[in-house]
Amino acid sequence: MNRIVARCRDAVRRIRTRALCPDVEGLEDRKLLSTANGGHWYYPIRITYSFVPDGTNIGGVPSNLFQAFNAVAPTATWQDQFRKAAAIWQAVAGFNIVEVPDNGAPIGGVGNQQNDPRFGDIRIGGTAMHPAYLGYSLLPPPINGGPDAGDIVMNTAQSWKINNDYDILSVAIHEFGHSLGMGHSDIVAANMYTYYAWMKQSLQPDDIAGIRNIYGGVPADPTNNATAATAIDLTPLIDGQGRMSYNAGYVTSFSNFEWYKITVPSTTTGTMKVTMQSSNLSSLSPRLNVINSSLVGVGQAIAQNVYGATVTYTVTGVTPGQTYYILAQSAQTGPGSNGAFGLLVNFGNSSLAPIAPYNTTVAQQPDQGVNGWMAETTPKQMRRLQRRMLARHTQNHGDDDPGHQVIAVKLGKGRPSYADALLAPPRRHSRLPQPSRFRKV
Ligand SMILES: [Zn+2]
Repeated sequence: MNRIVARCRDAVRRIRTRALCPDVEGLEDRKLLSTANGGHWYYPIRITYSFVPDGTNIGGVPSNLFQAFNAVAPTATWQDQFRKAAAIWQAVAGFNIVEVPDNGAPIGGVGNQQNDPRFGDIRIGGTAMHPAYLGYSLLPPPINGGPDAGDIVMNTAQSWKINNDYDILSVAIHEFGHSLGMGHSDIVAANMYTYYAWMKQSLQPDDIAGIRNIYGGVPADPTNNATAATAIDLTPLIDGQGRMSYNAGYVTSFSNFEWYKITVPSTTTGTMKVTMQSSNLSSLSPRLNVINSSLVGVGQAIAQNVYGATVTYTVTGVTPGQTYYILAQSAQTGPGSNGAFGLLVNFGNSSLAPIAPYNTTVAQQPDQGVNGWMAETTPKQMRRLQRRMLARHTQNHGDDDPGHQVIAVKLGKGRPSYADALLAPPRRHSRLPQPSRFRKV
């Protein structure tokens, strides 16, 4: 260990925080400082999330997420912060994440661990909490074995903002990180740092390395069809009523082009309706181009910055025997630039169902506990534990033991659920030698 690092660590010991020189330590040790919370989703091919309607029972308290956040921004605007957060994680790792509806059943209780038909695997709600918390995420399977796994509860008593502190996107990224299996990082710049230190609307290398440890990176292109010459021929998939359905598309990045071709069948009524669907399949922002046999563009449909969408372009006056190319890609770089999609082509008037998602159903299983917290706690014990942990955070906020950041949340009868909490900056930060690194609130 060189002297600078040693001196830094001495200084750290004196002021009882590691927050001042994590970068030096990272360079010295070249180790991953992010942690995993020990959970992950059994079917990463399709992890779903949903917004719980207000009134949804969260441990006896009705969710008021919409009421609180609608006062910050229009519903679609604040929801887009969560959608983007999910897409930000999907953009760097090997899973698809997608929004589904939510019927408002109580959080917790009996139901599937994954793919419960009533709501998303990760449900997003909100209740007013102690001001030390910005929110918490119930840990993903198998730690929580039921439908509560991965659910996110925002502290609706905080002062939320968009593009300012406390920034909804920054915290949404952090909570989704927990819901996907990430623990906390010792790197202050990482989104998965224990405290909200400043607005962090993107992932740091430490976050990316951590999520890839759990799910692997974005998969390699499963098909070799990056040019018109190597286009996959969809014609054999056309049914007797002039309909084609293809469910195996995947875009790996903004620069990944997926080429297909199709020949107009004799059953056509003269129109060719081409649909690219990532809705219900992934957070890909789709871009669809229809191109004629001379490789001249006929038209396109695009859903930029929409994380999971269905876009359609219709060509009229098609005649049997003509061949068209279909180019499927992503609408932008960054979040939304990768993910699963399907293609639908309809040459007639018969209805054509959307691409059905993969079956990702996992039945409820017993909770497994985490980090030594295997015992059941009563609500009274839980409150005592929470108070003790809050006190420890306040006294020793640089501690890197991920276990003590886990809180137990009593949702239903008989058992607690385990959650990772994101904490507001401790007041002590304002007295550190570099206070400007932390935004005061
Ligand atoms: Zn956290």
